[in-house]
Amino acid sequence: MRVDYRKSLNRDTANLSSLSALVLNADYRPLSYFPLSLWSWQDSIKAAFLDRVDVVSEYDRVVRSPSRAIRVPSVVVLRNYVKPAKSAAFTRFNLFLRDEFACQYCGEQGELTFDHVVPRSKGGKTNWSNVVAACARCNHQKGARLISECGFRLRRLPYEPSQMQLLNQGRKFPPNHLHRSWVDFLYWDAKLEE
Ligand SMILES: [Zn+2]
Repeated sequence: MRVDYRKSLNRDTANLSSLSALVLNADYRPLSYFPLSLWSWQDSIKAAFLDRVDVVSEYDRVVRSPSRAIRVPSVVVLRNYVKPAKSAAFTRFNLFLRDEFACQYCGEQGELTFDHVVPRSKGGKTNWSNVVAACARCNHQKGARLISECGFRLRRLPYEPSQMQLLNQGRKFPPNHLHRSWVDFLYWDAKLEE
């Protein structure tokens, strides 16, 4: 069989940018599930060179420097454990993650906004325990009323999540692309805990 070398070379070149490495903390758990902690091939090779990570698994793809050839890492583990912050930053993304990207009144997962459970006009604060993800429709219907005034029910009382709780929430949202070498590190402990 004749191999079209040029064609496969081109394909390899095009794919190189998509060869991300899954980044594990020193305890072999992903640094972050959602978004999944990934590094570009350049960053993972650089970190390996600097002895900041150990390479756990590699792609078949080889990149060459003037002095040597290196296989592109697919999974790397940090040598030094990064301690997750105890409390999670109060950000739009983290709030959506806590609420699993669903309206806390009707459960819809479309385009989301935020709702102050106790409206600001009634003294409601902008914090973890008073802001929830809400769809535009519920947000609009509720307006500046209390939930008791409009018959709405919260699916879950808003709470301040720990960094660990958010990490676990993120596990429920697997990315579109999972390289086979990543799967063991992403989901083995999920099964044990359920
Ligand atoms: Zn809704």
